[in-house]
Amino acid sequence: MILMKDIIKEGNPILRGKNLDVELPLQESDEKAIKSMIEYLINSQNDELAEKYHLRPGVGLAAPQIGLNKKMLVILANDEDGNMHFYPMINPKLLSYSEEKTYLESGEGCLSVDRKVDGYIHRAKRITVDTYLYDNGKLLHVKLRLKNYIAVVFQHEYDHLNGVLFVDRINTNHPFEVLPNSTPVKFKTCEKK
Ligand code: ZN
Repeated sequence: MILMKDIIKEGNPILRGKNLDVELPLQESDEKAIKSMIEYLINSQNDELAEKYHLRPGVGLAAPQIGLNKKMLVILANDEDGNMHFYPMINPKLLSYSEEKTYLESGEGCLSVDRKVDGYIHRAKRITVDTYLYDNGKLLHVKLRLKNYIAVVFQHEYDHLNGVLFVDRINTNHPFEVLPNSTPVKFKTCEKK
């Protein structure tokens, strides 16, 4: 079970390392890794377990954050309308993205960054992703269209696979600058990040 002490923190070169494609068919060790990433997100969103094991709630986790320089990430998040999205991704590729951008008014957070960093990060509002989805030992090759909050979460995690942290993307001179083609994600339900 992954605990906070197992999460690689900002400053560790692993987060800046090159991430390799996951070999297919899935090796046992990689399968174990993605299962443990899924388990972390589920547990971290369970109030009781999060308190018991001191887990910081997360909606996304990328393999380098658990010390594995491979292209795997997991998203477990409710979108702005309250619909749940669960995507354990292996070898995801960003195929296309809209010019129109979006951002979180609360800013972004990261399990690997133990400080509050204010500022907007403008990301594509709509994206298309090619990926394998892990489903109980099986792999499904799919193309996903993601938008708004879930697109933001994906781009945050995908950045990890390219050695990029959200703090790198904040305009330090004008952290709250709003771009003309960018609108904030509008949450209908309680906001999570
Ligand atoms: Zn992160």
